[in-house]
Amino acid sequence: MPSIQGPFDVVVLGAGAAGLMCAAVAGQRGKRVALIEHNAQPGRKILISGGGRCNFTNIHCTPANFLSSNPHFAKSALSLYQPRHFLELVERFRIPWHEKTLGQLFCDGSARAILDMLLGECERGQVELVVNARAIRVERASRMFRVHCSAGEFAAEALVVATGGLSIPKMGATGLAYDLARQFGLRVVEPRPALVPLVLGGEEAGWTSLTGVSTDALVGVGRTQFPRNQFREKLLFTHRGLSGPAVLQASSYWSAGEPLVIDFAPGTKVLAPLFAQGTRRDASTLRQALRSALPQRLADRMASIGAPEGWTNAALEARERHLHRWEFHPVGTEGFEKAEVTAGGVDTADLNSRTMEARAVPGLFFIGEAVDVTGHLGGFNFQWAWASAVAAGRAV
Ligand SMILES: Cc1cc2nc3c(=O)[nH]c(=O)nc-3n(C[C@H](O)[C@H](O)[C@H](O)COP(=O)(O)OP(=O)(O)OC[C@H]3O[C@@H](n4cnc5c(N)ncnc54)[C@H](O)[C@@H]3O)c2cc1C
Repeated sequence: MPSIQGPFDVVVLGAGAAGLMCAAVAGQRGKRVALIEHNAQPGRKILISGGGRCNFTNIHCTPANFLSSNPHFAKSALSLYQPRHFLELVERFRIPWHEKTLGQLFCDGSARAILDMLLGECERGQVELVVNARAIRVERASRMFRVHCSAGEFAAEALVVATGGLSIPKMGATGLAYDLARQFGLRVVEPRPALVPLVLGGEEAGWTSLTGVSTDALVGVGRTQFPRNQFREKLLFTHRGLSGPAVLQASSYWSAGEPLVIDFAPGTKVLAPLFAQGTRRDASTLRQALRSALPQRLADRMASIGAPEGWTNAALEARERHLHRWEFHPVGTEGFEKAEVTAGGVDTADLNSRTMEARAVPGLFFIGEAVDVTGHLGGFNFQWAWASAVAAGRAV
């Protein structure tokens, strides 16, 4: 029979970014905290994040950087714990960092430093970290949550669920948070892969011959004249379709059947040389103009789609417009195996935005990626993990 551990004031499920932060904050407030993780090590995703250097926050973080069925929900937590607060912690631990681009803050060295910092903070809060805890089940009786798992039985009046979303199952992602939400009567917004490469099929599959080609582009989603949610960053052709930061960002807004609309040369009149006096208009000058604005393999592919009809001004102008409004029709995403995050999750309508506590179940909290709040690429997902964790850590 597994032994009963404790007593505890708070049990936190999931020792990832949000769970570690929440446990540390609650522990340092004097709460007796158990932090329960099914992997053999805590914080595995932190270690692989940001290419191993952890893009731990973004100094330009605003609520507009997040997707949610309720765009207002994240405001309170994000304003109470801001990027500068996390940066103060990073500096207190003397972790060298730098700003890369677009306000993204990375460690100079390894992401390990961020995990060690969080573990240090948990130690200061005398958090009891339990790893290899499998087959978690939760019951509630007379205001106490009882957590049963292979590592024993843990009881507390507050339960914080920080087990993340479904992305990267091989790192230990599970749907436990959604199962627990449903068990306690909370709604779940259908989880879907986000920040995920898109797959091309049919005739468009031919573009995968450009695998490895990367170009600056403006990528948006939608059929209208003005595509939604445009992102100007790199686009990368892959052996299955499209990726790169601009496509990953747009993927969070994409749904099946919608086109991806791409401006391959934002702000540039690519074919302007063909309008210059005395310039010959033929396949060779067209290719040259394309090569001066685009990577060579992409330019050659664009040139190979045929000559503008009659080489008239109107035909060249139409070709120019096409370069700035190129549509791809992805047949799907690369799924949770490749998605950096999970969009959707525990419905914010059932949570208190200041504390992350379930409105109808006192003592039950959901934080981090498990919640229907999803950040853009660039450090925003960690900032949400920290902010929601601090909100709950102060409330438990
Ligand atoms: C490759 C990659 C790179 C990324 N890079 C960045 C970046 O640089 N910047 C950024 O802001 N975001 C980045 N992200 C996103 C970021 O890692 C997540 O948004 C963030 O980790 C979410 O924190 P969380 O604590 O909610 O979930 P997680 O960090 O996923 O933690 C959840 C924890 O719960 C545990 N768990 C899950 N199921 C169970 C269960 N059934 N029982 C017990 N324990 C369980 C997991 O093992 C894990 O330890 C990246 C994601 C990936 C996949």
